[in-house]
Amino acid sequence: MAAAALDILAIAAHRDDVEQTCGGALLKMAQRGYRTGILDLTQGEMGTRGTAEDRAREAEEAARILQVSWRQALDIPDGRVENTWENRMKVVRVIREQRPRVVILPYWQGRHPDHYTCSTLGYEACFLAGLAKLDRNPGAAVEGHGFSRAESGPETVGASAPEGAQLPPHRPFKILYATLYHDVRPTFVVDISEQFETRFQALMAYKTQFSDQEAGSGIFPAQAQIRARIEAMARYYGMLGGVDYAEPFLQKEVGLVEDLTAIPVKSI
Ligand SMILES: [Zn+2]
Repeated sequence: MAAAALDILAIAAHRDDVEQTCGGALLKMAQRGYRTGILDLTQGEMGTRGTAEDRAREAEEAARILQVSWRQALDIPDGRVENTWENRMKVVRVIREQRPRVVILPYWQGRHPDHYTCSTLGYEACFLAGLAKLDRNPGAAVEGHGFSRAESGPETVGASAPEGAQLPPHRPFKILYATLYHDVRPTFVVDISEQFETRFQALMAYKTQFSDQEAGSGIFPAQAQIRARIEAMARYYGMLGGVDYAEPFLQKEVGLVEDLTAIPVKSI
């Protein structure tokens, strides 16, 4: 019945975020046989160009190009990603359904509030998804905000709990932060030299956003400019890792090393 668990789930605020921040790494992992997935919190209805339906079609095409096994968009309002109990439970449901070992989140600081809020929301959802008793008494077990307690006894609590609370608990082993949107030094980079071109094609699948056109030409750079920008970033992080193109990531934990002679990236 249940599909196989995902090895890696990337969670982002907007459709096309993952394509810009960690699409190369996702593709690389898929090419190695891992099951990858993307959860977009919003559907892109606030976009200057195109409708939410256009974005859905484009996101599906981008997912195909990146060889992801699973992709879904939640119904959190675009431009209003808030770290509420209700929104956390929507992400908890996905984490419990898809059971990823690794979750990739955006970095927790940045220009766009949806991005940094997605980071905190995603982290807290990963924590909550692992709580065995989440379904027993969700109002009191963690916090009371935004959740209406059942009026009668415990037998109705389960019924009133959000969908995800009734699935078996699951906590991802690893949380990684994709840092591309923020100027912070990554703890490691993933070599995407062989995936760079395909990742760029995935981004270009968002035709309503990135093809050269009149509407919104004041805010949207031309395709050639986008290409130059994307390439410059990938080359910069590639340089840090001693490869052609790379994507930057940060982990809060320290690295664990077994063999000092096998650590990559040249020092001098
Ligand atoms: Zn975004």
